[in-house]
Amino acid sequence: MKFTFWGTRGSIPAPGPHTVAVGGNTTCLEIDTEGATRIIVDAGTGIRALGLKLLKETNPEPITLLLTHSHWDHLAGFTFFAPAYSSKFKLDVYGNHMAQEVLQRDIFERHDNRYFPVNMDDFRAYIKFFDEMPNVMRIGKIRIRQINLNHPGNGFGYRFDKNNHSMAFITDNEIGLEYKGGNTTVELIEFCRGCNILIHDAQFLPEEIATHRGWGHSTYTEIADIAAGAGVKHIILTHHDPERDDQSCWDLLQAAREYLSRRDLDIGCDLAIEGQSYTF
Ligand SMILES: [Zn+2]
Ligand SMILES: [Zn+2]
Repeated sequence: MKFTFWGTRGSIPAPGPHTVAVGGNTTCLEIDTEGATRIIVDAGTGIRALGLKLLKETNPEPITLLLTHSHWDHLAGFTFFAPAYSSKFKLDVYGNHMAQEVLQRDIFERHDNRYFPVNMDDFRAYIKFFDEMPNVMRIGKIRIRQINLNHPGNGFGYRFDKNNHSMAFITDNEIGLEYKGGNTTVELIEFCRGCNILIHDAQFLPEEIATHRGWGHSTYTEIADIAAGAGVKHIILTHHDPERDDQSCWDLLQAAREYLSRRDLDIGCDLAIEGQSYTF
């Protein structure tokens, strides 16, 4: 399985010289399924550059777009996703009902010249919206499952299994607070059980979380504890706070690795960095 980060920033894009190493675009993840269908998770501003890459392909695969939730930082790139304007592309969109509603409103209602210069008639791709993903969905050899998020407005995290390899992508999830319609710690641990890689929102530092309870995000200590309980081999921290420059992102990573080492946990730890790919 191969995946690539096209956007790893939380809340709002944060471009500029101070974030050039980690990246400033908001959430977008590409999963190469090796043949059947390309999977994209979220349409944050990172999806723009991914779209330009896909547009160069002569015979592009159909795309399945999985939306985690309806917040703007996860949808804002869609109107700049070039494949949506090309008849070469077929796009199936899944996500929670609010994400679907917000995106459809963006496409079908806001696409007039009060908000955007391009008319909705210019969408040429075959785009189909699906209300709910089945409990288990198969795309090629990849099996996909979802978990409810602890986040304002809820949403979904996703797990991808192929043969004996597995990756979970869970952003905008508050581990330390159970939301109505969200997940419990036990459910989260079971969902992540045995994953090779867990990509999780680590927007806040442990010393920041007390003043940000209820914002829908987590800390590296909370993620490490879940990973330890679930037997996860490697964690990747994402949804970086827009105020965090490159150096403070490296500091966060260092602190996370020291925490894992102090707890004597044999779990790898990286930052999600825009442009970086993983094959496993
Ligand atoms: Zn977000
Ligand atoms: Zn959110």
